[in-house]
Amino acid sequence: MVYDLIIVGMGPVGATAANLAGLWGLNALALDKAEDIYENPRAMGLDHEVMRSFDNIGLADAIASHVMPYRASLYLGGNARLIKRIETAKPPYLLGWSPNYVFSQPPVERALRKRIDDFATVKVELGCEVLGIEQAHGLSKVQVRDRHGVEHTHSSHYVLACDGGTSPIRTRLQLPMDDLAFNEPWLVVDVMLKDGAGEQLPSTNVQYCEVERPCTFVVGPGRHRRWEFMINPGESPAEIARPESIQRLISRWLPADSYTIWRASSYRFHALILQRWRHEQTFFLGDAAHMTPPFLAQGMCQGIRDAMNLIWKIALVRRQLAQPALLDSYQRERAPHVRRTTEVAKTFGQTICERDVQRAAERDARLEQQLLARPDGIMTRQALIPGLDSGFIDTSPGAGELLPQPRVRNHSGATELLDRFTGQSLRLVLAADLVDPDLLEHVRGVCAQLPLRIVQLVEAAPSVSDSADDYQEQDGVMAAWMHQYDCKAVLARPDHYVYGTAVSSVQTLALVHRLLAALDS
Ligand SMILES: Cc1cc2nc3c(=O)[nH]c(=O)nc-3n(C[C@H](O)[C@H](O)[C@H](O)COP(=O)(O)OP(=O)(O)OC[C@H]3O[C@@H](n4cnc5c(N)ncnc54)[C@H](O)[C@@H]3O)c2cc1C
Repeated sequence: MVYDLIIVGMGPVGATAANLAGLWGLNALALDKAEDIYENPRAMGLDHEVMRSFDNIGLADAIASHVMPYRASLYLGGNARLIKRIETAKPPYLLGWSPNYVFSQPPVERALRKRIDDFATVKVELGCEVLGIEQAHGLSKVQVRDRHGVEHTHSSHYVLACDGGTSPIRTRLQLPMDDLAFNEPWLVVDVMLKDGAGEQLPSTNVQYCEVERPCTFVVGPGRHRRWEFMINPGESPAEIARPESIQRLISRWLPADSYTIWRASSYRFHALILQRWRHEQTFFLGDAAHMTPPFLAQGMCQGIRDAMNLIWKIALVRRQLAQPALLDSYQRERAPHVRRTTEVAKTFGQTICERDVQRAAERDARLEQQLLARPDGIMTRQALIPGLDSGFIDTSPGAGELLPQPRVRNHSGATELLDRFTGQSLRLVLAADLVDPDLLEHVRGVCAQLPLRIVQLVEAAPSVSDSADDYQEQDGVMAAWMHQYDCKAVLARPDHYVYGTAVSSVQTLALVHRLLAALDS
């Protein structure tokens, strides 16, 4: 059998890609050399884009008990003075989900893997190590050693290398990465609070921007708390990760008998981006393609964006609804996005990691001024994540931004987030004052083969006698977005990026034809 794609590595990125492949009906084989998930948490924060992706897969309810909205983050400078405050946005939420969450990675990864079983077109093989890939006649031959030590070869049209930061596939191909010059040693400690313990701990996340030892405190779901400590020059990463050293570090907040250490690991936080994200039919995703310092909690989120960006494109190409050139937009869109996001994370890291007394004092003064300049003293983390600048998008206003996700009521009286009605499709959203049956008939005709859904917004609640495409918005986020971009129609891609916008029926039709031409070029 020739698979549409073989996914190498089932960390959070590969497992998400496997679910998305199932959602799109792709024949996929997902492999991991490990028999089980990695039991220790690494990522602790995820954002609304990831929650939206998980919900598209049908996972949001299953992981609800392992996920909690992020609290505010306080940055404390010298003498514990507040120098910066990052707040999360208040509802109604632009994308339908709280902008940031903390989560417990092992159970969420387990749920991701379990969900794959629901997709008949995706096969999973664990304990199966990929040894090499050969390309011939447009196909990939993937050599594997299974859990019994037997070697096989599987064939596919595409391979997704989701094999992590040390990516054996990338290493074998000797593909170079750009180094954005960040290289700092940190100790990460996860603890579980004992019954009734931790009352005295901060109720928000805190960045202690202290020159003696920068450190971070994160409030996790349930009893999970995390500390991250910068490792000072001359300290041994192994020595500082010993329980006695950890207890000494945490004693400033908690006595040792009030928690158990879940895990402690030392890391070097890097900022690296692959120069070429595709080698023949193999695409690189997640940590295999980029490493981001965790100060913005975006490493895994970036990888899940990779999967969201690529899978629908592969599906359209495999269904012959788009030319293979569509796949060239993967790196064109993702690489600059990752670079910009990583630069922001790096800037945050540099703010936190400042060790020079004079420069730290200047930083404190500058940030305090900025804090005073905003009466609420607030910035939101999500405002820092860019849209798409170029790639498979139009040039109209709003192109490359994320399609808002309002809560809507449909013709049968059900109220849900919009994606739950439309799924991961191309969507043409029309404002309540752009009603044109001829336009809709024409669009349906020219897009008959495409996975396109019409969303006609209406003022009054639709009833059973109305069209199944009629939706009444409940919270105004779509209307506000359309007002901001001065448009009456939005054409969105399955990964929720806006392809383009229009202000009239004529322009909408032209926009749809531009999309069709772009898919065919
Ligand atoms: C301390 C720390 C804190 C972090 N905090 C955050 C955060 O808050 N938010 C966030 O978004 N990100 C965070 N990150 C980053 C995040 O953890 C990673 O980006 C993410 O886990 C990478 O996922 P992945 O699927 O790309 O790779 P991995 O999780 O590394 O998975 C790779 C998989 O490939 C498999 N594999 C490798 N080679 C082969 C082979 N030859 N054959 C078969 N299988 C193979 C491995 O067994 C593994 O399962 C943090 C990272 C660290 C270290």
